Amino acid sequence: MAEMTSQAQAISEEEWGLRKQLADFYHLVYFMGWAELLFNHISVRLPGTDEYLVNPFGLHYTEITPDNLIVVGTDGRLRRDAPYPANPAGFALHGAVHAARHDIHCIAHIHTTAVAAVVGKKHGFSHDNFYGAQLIDRIGYHAFEGITLYEGERDRMVANLGTRNILVLRNHGVAVCERDVPTTFMLLWTVHRAAEVQCQADSMKAEDIILGADVRESCRRDAAELNRSASYAKFAFEGQVRVMRRSLPAAW
Ligand SMILES: [Zn+2]
Repeated sequence: MAEMTSQAQAISEEEWGLRKQLADFYHLVYFMGWAELLFNHISVRLPGTDEYLVNPFGLHYTEITPDNLIVVGTDGRLRRDAPYPANPAGFALHGAVHAARHDIHCIAHIHTTAVAAVVGKKHGFSHDNFYGAQLIDRIGYHAFEGITLYEGERDRMVANLGTRNILVLRNHGVAVCERDVPTTFMLLWTVHRAAEVQCQADSMKAEDIILGADVRESCRRDAAELNRSASYAKFAFEGQVRVMRRSLPAAW
């Protein structure tokens, strides 16, 4: 693998692939306009472990490369030497979900304007638009307890997520959790689109069309079935990475 740096040569081919995918995901979050300066995190579990890859604090999303991602445990502490400090408080959400949900391999947290607006409303996400209808039964809601995540909140957050894939952090943002990077990206995009459409729809003086129970059940079933098909998420992720790379070349 000619493109590997000397540091990367110490890691497996599988891990290197995950590192490249995660670095692309960070760049994509910036490219899509979902980044919050250099705050927030996206994490990927190292296969067969409770350790995960995450961004070192201090770098902008576009400065993240496959070899500067750090490895931390579910306690948020460094598991391998790195020239960057760990950030246990910042990683608390990731550590809690990776420790509790072994079916989850990737977690992305954002608070775009549309998402932050929707999660500040008591009703939360609407399921009456095309994107929101794909999120039926997939969202857990967690009440805001403050800017910093304290130890006791981890358990409540995991309980509120349950077996779902989206955790609404009320008055804050969302955490989207899926089995791999492309599927997490796809679900994150769907959540963001649902929020954007909801914001526009709620600003209009017109009566909403509320979906009936049969259609909702059909949407829930179809979304679950589509989610099991890995190929379309992979195509969507890789396609968007190719578009991004025309204006934001990779440094690796
Ligand atoms: Zn946040």
